[in-house]
Amino acid sequence: MSHRIACDYVAGCDGYHGVSRASIPAEILRVFEREYPFGWLGILADVPPCDDELIYSSHVRGFALASMRSPTRSRYYVQVPLTERLEEWPDERLWDELALRLGPEAAAHITRGPAIEKSIAPLRSFVAEPMRHGRLFLAGDAAHIVPPTGAKGLNLAASDVGFLADALIEHYAERSDAGLEAYSVRALSRVWMAERFSWWFAGLTHRFPDMDDFARRMQVAELGYIRASAQAQAVVAENYVGLPLAYAAYNAMERLG
Ligand SMILES: Cc1cc2nc3c(=O)[nH]c(=O)nc-3n(C[C@H](O)[C@H](O)[C@H](O)COP(=O)(O)OP(=O)(O)OC[C@H]3O[C@@H](n4cnc5c(N)ncnc54)[C@H](O)[C@@H]3O)c2cc1C
Repeated sequence: MSHRIACDYVAGCDGYHGVSRASIPAEILRVFEREYPFGWLGILADVPPCDDELIYSSHVRGFALASMRSPTRSRYYVQVPLTERLEEWPDERLWDELALRLGPEAAAHITRGPAIEKSIAPLRSFVAEPMRHGRLFLAGDAAHIVPPTGAKGLNLAASDVGFLADALIEHYAERSDAGLEAYSVRALSRVWMAERFSWWFAGLTHRFPDMDDFARRMQVAELGYIRASAQAQAVVAENYVGLPLAYAAYNAMERLG
């Protein structure tokens, strides 16, 4: 049975695999994409986290991340080649690898437990422009994907929806389409800033297959600089917590065409 819903506007917030973006003609949509030569093997377990902060580790064997979902539920990740298969990673092997990459201090506080979810996710940067086609407005993963290093995916989806809500209120309450007209450029300005941070952070912390000793020294020098410099820490912190919405007023991309 099919249903028809009449509406003025469509918010295309149906994720990366949804129909919204696919409904925009290919000759209008411009796609920017970067695939990374590795993925994240993640484990979710009902165990207390090993720390009350997140731990990001740039280890010679590859990246690792310790994060928490609640005081009793933890989420850990290790970087793996894209060719890796889940069957090759029984829980004990994954806990051993995490202990190795996170270092002895964190390892001493890791509580091991059976996985309640385990998966391998590829890392990707992706942006589709424009984020508006007629009365359709893309928001969130429907328009863009970031590598998860900066934890920006949900944050960006929320700011898109915030811009769109403001624009729709302006349309209905003030009879002005200025916000709707500006939506795509405004949202994309912030999207690209978050894309840049997520791409940079992934590059700083992961081991790339073609990485030589020079490239590794560059990573270590940059990590050392961030550790030493209050200015560098402020730059990372500003990006990590999420840039002010007002930065979206700077529409540098418009000039690129
Ligand atoms: C393993 C993993 C870990 C992550 N961790 C983080 C993190 O720590 N921090 C962070 O900020 N982000 C994280 N993200 C990214 C974050 O989950 C996404 O960026 C965010 O969920 C995007 O929200 P969205 O609403 O745009 O899309 P989605 O969350 O994908 O929601 C789209 C919704 O639309 C529905 N839908 C699709 N098609 C249709 C249809 N035809 N009709 C009706 N409904 C439809 C889908 O069922 C879905 O419910 C993570 C992602 C993954 C995969």
